[in-house]
Amino acid sequence: MFEMYLSTVDEKSALICGLSDFIWDHAEVPYTEYESAGEFCRLLEKEGFTVTRGAADIPTAFTATFGDGAPHIGVLAEYDALSGLSQEANVTEKKYKEGPDIGHGCGHNLFAGGSFGAVLAIKSFIEDTGKGKVTLFGCPAEEGGNGKVYMARAGVFTGVDAVVSWHPEKMYMPRTRPALALISKIYSFTGVASHAGGSPHLGRSALDAVELMNVGANFLREHMPLTCRVHYAIIDTGGEAPNIVQSHAKVKYMVRAETLDDVLELSARVDRIAQGAALMTDTTFETKFVSACSNLITIPTLQKTALEAMNDLPFPVPTEEELSFGKALRATMPLTSKEKQETAIYADRVLPLAPPAAHGGSTDTSDVSWNTPTVQMHIGNWVKGTPGHSWQAVTQGKSSYAHKSMLYASKAVAGTALRLISDPSLIEKAKAEHFEQTQGKYVCPIPADVNPPIPQK
Ligand SMILES: [Zn+2]
Ligand SMILES: [Zn+2]
Repeated sequence: MFEMYLSTVDEKSALICGLSDFIWDHAEVPYTEYESAGEFCRLLEKEGFTVTRGAADIPTAFTATFGDGAPHIGVLAEYDALSGLSQEANVTEKKYKEGPDIGHGCGHNLFAGGSFGAVLAIKSFIEDTGKGKVTLFGCPAEEGGNGKVYMARAGVFTGVDAVVSWHPEKMYMPRTRPALALISKIYSFTGVASHAGGSPHLGRSALDAVELMNVGANFLREHMPLTCRVHYAIIDTGGEAPNIVQSHAKVKYMVRAETLDDVLELSARVDRIAQGAALMTDTTFETKFVSACSNLITIPTLQKTALEAMNDLPFPVPTEEELSFGKALRATMPLTSKEKQETAIYADRVLPLAPPAAHGGSTDTSDVSWNTPTVQMHIGNWVKGTPGHSWQAVTQGKSSYAHKSMLYASKAVAGTALRLISDPSLIEKAKAEHFEQTQGKYVCPIPADVNPPIPQK
């Protein structure tokens, strides 16, 4: 279906792969994606989209719209990279690439290119039929920055009828697994410094408070639902001198639960553990909100539509050369015993819709999903067994198989969107499924007075 529109992706493949490679080459960390967003906006404008830069007052967020019909379909794109992951492309060993120590370990360069291709195909349909409207949402800072949550809080996704998205993966299927709601806070303890040998009785240790807080949190684990998560990192130990009672210490917490209400409750319990630790050590503490996102709302009708669109496309088949590169790279990966038994180097088919299985991660796409019916597709750009956020993921980001499967992603996203535009009953059903789960209410988990952590230029 829709072959004549989806073929736009083939016609524009050099442009699409060029954008993906540009973003790979200019890898930028969250909220600093000036080169990536700049090039993306320039190309979208050249292709006839109306581009609004600085969406939600974030300099590297933008929207690009085409058409003025209905329904209004949103397509997400990400383009931020990860620090500590500089890596040469298309090699089978860990090899530092000259320049900043930043790399595309989550494949967001492909995410950007694939979504660009999708909206070009959707645009060709709108031009031809006059039906529908499409907006590409340029979403910065997915990696720990929760860019989409701030965009959702600013109402950027309001009025969109459905969002179709995707992400690089090791398999081909619409996402059915949920994502947890998350809250992250820093607890800063203050005590009294003193000579740890001469006058320990005068000191009040902030580091003791951090340690006791962590002990308390570890005892909490037995009495919280199995699906919850609690992680912490001590980010200030109070100094390097053991002979001084530490007067300051900080610990950063991330807590996750199945719903926003549950994570708020769990976070309040962690707050009380901090109070207990302060009481025990005669110290005081302050909390600072860091970030948060909601749980993911999944929409069966959209998953089925996406699966149909994926199954309708010619499947990306690796060449002999791509297979031998993949095989050599796979030999460098830490594989589970189950993964070791796999014979296919790349995913070799579209998987059927899996029943939602428990998952411990979170995503800021969740906050989009509370505002409008949303579907994400997993696309197998990477060799099977590739760990996310690894040098192996970075090195594959400009490979010929990654390009090929990215163009498949463009067509899968566009094919899903064109089905939704052509059949209004699908959107109606999706909206009903959405309302059933959200009651039409979205409460942003980031307080109104917290701003995105945009570094000064
Ligand atoms: Zn990531
Ligand atoms: Zn990612």
